[in-house]
Amino acid sequence: ESDVPWVLGTQLTTRSGPIARAAEGSRVLMIEAHDFAARKPYHHHKLTLVFAAMRQFRDRLRAAGYEVIYITADSFADGFAAFFDDHPDTRLVAMRSPSYGSERRFRELIEAAGGDVRFVDNELFASTRQAFDEWANADPDDETPTFKHESMYRWLRRETGVLMDGDEPVGGEWNYDDENREFPDETWAAPPAPSPEPDEQTVETAAWVEDSFETWGDTSVDDFPWPVTREQAQDALDRFIDERLGEFGEYQDAMRADDWAMAHSLLSSSINLGLLHPVEVIEAIIDAYDSRDLPLNAVEGCVRQILGWREFMRHVYRHAMPALAEANQLDATASLPDFYWDGDTEMECLSQTISEVYDRGYSHHIQRLMVLANFATLWGVEPGELNDWFHATYVDAYHWVTTPNVIEMGQYGHGVFATKPYVSSANYIDKMSDYCSDCRYYKTKTTGENACPFNALYWDFLDRNEEQLRSNHRMGLMYSHVDDKQESDELSSIRDRVATLRAKAADGDI
Ligand code: FAD
Repeated sequence: ESDVPWVLGTQLTTRSGPIARAAEGSRVLMIEAHDFAARKPYHHHKLTLVFAAMRQFRDRLRAAGYEVIYITADSFADGFAAFFDDHPDTRLVAMRSPSYGSERRFRELIEAAGGDVRFVDNELFASTRQAFDEWANADPDDETPTFKHESMYRWLRRETGVLMDGDEPVGGEWNYDDENREFPDETWAAPPAPSPEPDEQTVETAAWVEDSFETWGDTSVDDFPWPVTREQAQDALDRFIDERLGEFGEYQDAMRADDWAMAHSLLSSSINLGLLHPVEVIEAIIDAYDSRDLPLNAVEGCVRQILGWREFMRHVYRHAMPALAEANQLDATASLPDFYWDGDTEMECLSQTISEVYDRGYSHHIQRLMVLANFATLWGVEPGELNDWFHATYVDAYHWVTTPNVIEMGQYGHGVFATKPYVSSANYIDKMSDYCSDCRYYKTKTTGENACPFNALYWDFLDRNEEQLRSNHRMGLMYSHVDDKQESDELSSIRDRVATLRAKAADGDI
């Protein structure tokens, strides 16, 4: 029985996993299964990206002499059946997918097809499961474990030596987050966003996706900034370092209506597909820091996202699933307003952000957290429904990364690491964006026909969730304001305003 490396669609690299250890020219399996793509109204660009990148990887492997068995099938079950019919004396060997339960499901399908498989660790992260578990000393059966991002991040900085000066962090601080919250003045121009010409394979795949699936989002690939090959991804990394990294720090949290990318790296889709390894991205950032004059708050800020948050989310997901996907500690039951799908709202922050997601399956972190998830949390949207929306609509979305970001960080669903909900009124959005100046709603008003919905919803959220949140010492100040509003009777006008908003939303008129 010989081992055949099976490369999953999110592991498109020859530098990690079983394929890296197989002799050049070996036989390799790839399965392009189509049923998953029909399960949700995925963004057209997301499906185009995944399928085009798989096909490109296949072609590159073949050009390098590998014998690639590329099976196109309705489902993985059919794909495995076809493979083992033709190659009965083989065993598959693959890196685990980070998606919960996927190892068990794949094993069942493979055994049903009369085959065998061996799963090895996923090497596409900066830390291993074993190392994290040893460090965290977590009970594997505890479904509501608690973890702290900052301590994991410091541990990984020490472990890898990244931005370390002996035992001390470079610059004397572990974290320069408080230097990453500026809003640029009008003279600042964001670095140019990439707009490469799509190659022929991408154009063909895009047309096939449009014919084959019910997708959401723009189907034109004239503006398709997502790398589909390793070369394109490396080029995107180089360009990020040359053009954007220096500006990444200060304005990381800022939102401007005319700059969809600001100075963000736009690398998540490439890292999540295996086209770039997170460690190579970190190394490139550190090399640039060592050889050029780059601000530490930009370099540390970006390292924290990749070595800190990305790794953290993966381990949180591993430990908190399956409960995390269903978690709903605030008992939120409202449905997602229709405008998340059709963009039809007069709230400028939401309409701008949703139209950017519609155009290219992307918005940056603060739009995701403080506009889209913030509004949904204030509205009381059931976390699983918002998670499904993010999973369907973003090019970089996979269950392992979307679920902890949306349900825990965005909606305070579980309490694994969030110590309070990330919610705000119009005040934060106005401070960090230029949306409010073009909005028909008044950012400073809470009640009345033209008041910004975020304001009444914010106080109503605190009021509604008082039992859960008042005892949280981080919310103390906010509850003293709620008490003032209760006394002055403002709270009852706030409740009326929210009832009006809900009725208007039901008519698609908010
Ligand atoms: P940059 O801002 O340039 O950051 C650099 C890199 O850091 C990213 O490419 C990414 O690899 C990593 N990173 C930063 N923050 C996170 C984080 N919280 N979790 C994981 N990786 C992080 N990220 C996804 O990859 N897929 C998702 O489906 C996803 N859904 C999200 C949903 C919500 C509600 C929120 C609040 C965040 C979500 N994120 C998700 C995290 C983050 O917003 C994106 O990784 C980031 O915006 C991608 O854009 P970028 O590559 O320009 O990132």
